[in-house]
Amino acid sequence: MCVIIIALETWTSWRGHAAEMEDAFRSTANMALALSQHADQALDEVDIVLREVLEQMQGKPLASTDKERVHNFLVRNVGEVEQLAGLFVYDEKGAWIASSQPVLETRFNNSDRDYFQYHQAHRLDSPFIGKPLRSKSTGHWVLTMSRRIDKPDGTFGGVVVATLDIDFFERFYRQFDIGQRGTILLVSNDATVLYRRPLRVDSMGMSLEHSQLFQRYVRSAEAGQVELRSTQDGVLRIQSFRHLARYPLFVAVAVSKDEILQTWRRHALWRAAGIILLLLAIAYGGNKMVAQVSLRERAQAEAVQAKSELETMFQVLQSQSRRDGLTGVANRRYFDELLASETARFSRSGGAFSLLMIDVDYFKQYNDRYGHAAGDICLKAIASAISAAAQRETDTVARYGGEEFAVLLHECGRAGALVVAGRLIAAVRALAIAHAAAEDGLVSVSIGITSIESRKGFDCLPRELIDSADRALYQAKEQGRAQWVFREFSGSGTRVAWSA
Ligand code: GH3
Ligand code: MG
Ligand code: MG
Repeated sequence: MCVIIIALETWTSWRGHAAEMEDAFRSTANMALALSQHADQALDEVDIVLREVLEQMQGKPLASTDKERVHNFLVRNVGEVEQLAGLFVYDEKGAWIASSQPVLETRFNNSDRDYFQYHQAHRLDSPFIGKPLRSKSTGHWVLTMSRRIDKPDGTFGGVVVATLDIDFFERFYRQFDIGQRGTILLVSNDATVLYRRPLRVDSMGMSLEHSQLFQRYVRSAEAGQVELRSTQDGVLRIQSFRHLARYPLFVAVAVSKDEILQTWRRHALWRAAGIILLLLAIAYGGNKMVAQVSLRERAQAEAVQAKSELETMFQVLQSQSRRDGLTGVANRRYFDELLASETARFSRSGGAFSLLMIDVDYFKQYNDRYGHAAGDICLKAIASAISAAAQRETDTVARYGGEEFAVLLHECGRAGALVVAGRLIAAVRALAIAHAAAEDGLVSVSIGITSIESRKGFDCLPRELIDSADRALYQAKEQGRAQWVFREFSGSGTRVAWSA
C-alpha cells in the first residue's frame, strides 16, 4: 500500500511539475511573439518618418528658409509618433543641420557615433539601428535608427537619425508579469543589448556574443525555447526568443525556473508532509495488525500443540490405565470392558471367540520359598511368555488378578484355543523357573478354556463365560495341574475336554 501511494504521489507530482514547465514555456513564447510584433511595428512607424525626412532632404542643399520648415516638420513628427524622442539631420561631416529640438545645437559633432560611421562606410538603402546611448542633448537612454543621405552624385551626404525613447519600450514591457527575477531583452542580431528589463546600466550596449543563448540557439533559429543558467547572476531561467520579422533584432523573454515552480514546490511539500503522515499511520496500523495476527497465529499454534500434547498425554494415560503395573499386560478393568464388547459383538453378529483363564500352580508355596520379590519376577516372566505365545494382534492377554491371567482370542474357536493353550503351557515350562514344591521342579500353569461358536443372535453374558472358564480351570487343578481343560460354552449345556 505504501509503495503504491508513493508511486501515485510521485507520478502526480511529476505531472504537476511538467505542466508548470509547459505553461512557462508557452507563456514566455507568447510574450516573445507579442514583443517582437510590438518592436516591429514601433520601428516601422519610425522608419516611415525617416523616409519622409529623407525625401525632404535628399539632394537639396538647405536654404535658411527651408531650415525653419524642416524643423517644424521634424517637431510635428516627433509629436505624432509616441516612440520618437527626437529627429536629427547631420551633414557629411557630422555637423548638426536640423533637429526636432527647440534650438539647433551647433556645439556638438556626431561624426564619432556608430551610425554615422556605418552610413559613411555603407551605401545601403536600409535603416541602421545603433547601440543604445545617452543622448548628448537630453542625457536620456535612447536607441537610434538612422538612414543615409545620398548626394545627387551618390556620395555620402550625411545622416538622418531618429532617437527612440527607451521609456516607450519600458512602459510596454512593464505590463508583462515575468516575476522578480525574470528578464526581457531586446537585442540586435550582432548580439548588442538594446534594452533590458529590468534596466541595468551595465547591460545597455553590452554584447551577448559569447552567451550560450546567442551562440547555440538564437543564431540558428527563428524562434525557440530553452532552459539556461545565467552566467551573470547564476539564475536558472526558462527562455523564449524570437527574431523580429522585418528588422535585424530579436527579443528574449526569460522567467526564473525557481519562481515558476515556487507554488508547485510549496504544494508538493505540503502534500509530501501529508503523505508522510498517512504512511506513518499506515505503517503504525499495519505493524499493529501484523503483530496481532502473528500473536493470534502463535496462540493458535500453541493451542494446537497443547491439544496434541493433551491428546498424547491422554493416550499415554489411557494406555497406562489399561495396563497392569507389574507385568505390562492389560489390566483387569480393560479386560472386563473388552470381554463385554466382545460378547456384545458376538450377540449381534455371531462368529467365534475363546477365553482362557490361566493360574500359576502352587504359587503361594513359590512365594513362601523364594520370597515375594522373586514371585513378582516370576509373574513378569510368565506374562511375557503368555504374550509371546498369544501371537495374533487380536489376542488380548490380561492379568486377571494375583497370579491369574486371562487370554481372549478373537475370532478363534475351540481348535485354535486348544493350540494356543498347549503353546502357553509349553512356553511357561520353557522358562524353566525352578520351583521345588512343584511335581517336576519347574513353574507351571493350569488353563481353563471355554469357546463360543454360534449362529447369530446367540446371547451370552461375560460372567457366564468367566464362570465356564473358571470351572474348567478348577477341573485342570483337580486333575493334577500343568494342563488345560476345555469346556464348550453353549448357554445351557457344556462339553468338556482336557489336555492331561
Ligand atoms: P494352586 O496351585 O492351587 O493355584 O496353588 P496356589 O498356591 O497358587 O494357590 P492360590 O492360587 O490360592 O495362590 C495364590 C497365591 O499367589 C497367593 C499369593 O501368595 C500369590 N500371589 C498373588 N498375587 C501375587 C503377586 O502379585 N505377587 C506375588 N509374588 N505373589 C502373588
Ligand atoms: Mg490363584
Ligand atoms: Mg495358583
